[in-house]
Amino acid sequence: MCERPGPAPCAGCLATLRAAPSLAVPAGLVACRALLAYDGPGRDLVARLKYRNARSVLPWLAAGMAALTVAAGDEVDVVTWAPTTGQRRRERGFDQAELLARRVARELGRPAVALLQRQPGPHQTGLRLAERQAAPRFRPRRAVARAAPCRRVLLVDDVVTSGATLTRASRVLTDAGAAAVVGLAAARTAPPRSRGP
Ligand SMILES: [Zn+2]
Repeated sequence: MCERPGPAPCAGCLATLRAAPSLAVPAGLVACRALLAYDGPGRDLVARLKYRNARSVLPWLAAGMAALTVAAGDEVDVVTWAPTTGQRRRERGFDQAELLARRVARELGRPAVALLQRQPGPHQTGLRLAERQAAPRFRPRRAVARAAPCRRVLLVDDVVTSGATLTRASRVLTDAGAAAVVGLAAARTAPPRSRGP
C-alpha cells in the first residue's frame, strides 16, 4: 500500500488487492462474507482503520462490505458487531468493528445496535499461548431482548481468522432468539498453506 493519503486506495493499490478467500462458514452462522484477503496490501489497508483521523478508508471498506451483502441477496434486519476489549477501546478511543458496523448499517438502511458485550478476559500475563489465543467470550446487552428475537442479524468484525470469535458471538445472538446470523468482515485470513502433493 502506498502512503498516498485519501479515503480510498489509489488505482495502483486497488489493482494489488485480492478478494477474500472462499472458506467454510464458521459454525453458528448461515453465511460469512469478507471483502479482502488479509495479507499484503489488504492487511495494510485494514490496518489503516486504526488511524481513524487520517482520512480513514472506513467509508470505502464499509461500502464494499455492504455491496457484498446486497449482491448475495441477504435480507438482514439489524446490524451489530463483535466488540473489542474494553481496554483496547479505551486505548484507541474507538472500536473498529463498531465503526465498520455503523457505516455498513447506514449503507444498508438498517439499524446498528450494540447487542454484545465482550467479557473481560483473564489477565494475559502468565497464560500459555493457547489460552491467550482462545476466542473471546461475549454476553448479551440489554438491547438483545428486543432487537434479536426472530431477526436476521448481520454480525460485523474487522478481520476473520479462525471464525471462532464470530461463532462465539453468534451463539449469544441465537440463544437470544435471533432467526439467523450472517457474518461480514473487512478481511479474512487464508488458512496456512498446506504442503500437499
Ligand atoms: Zn496507492
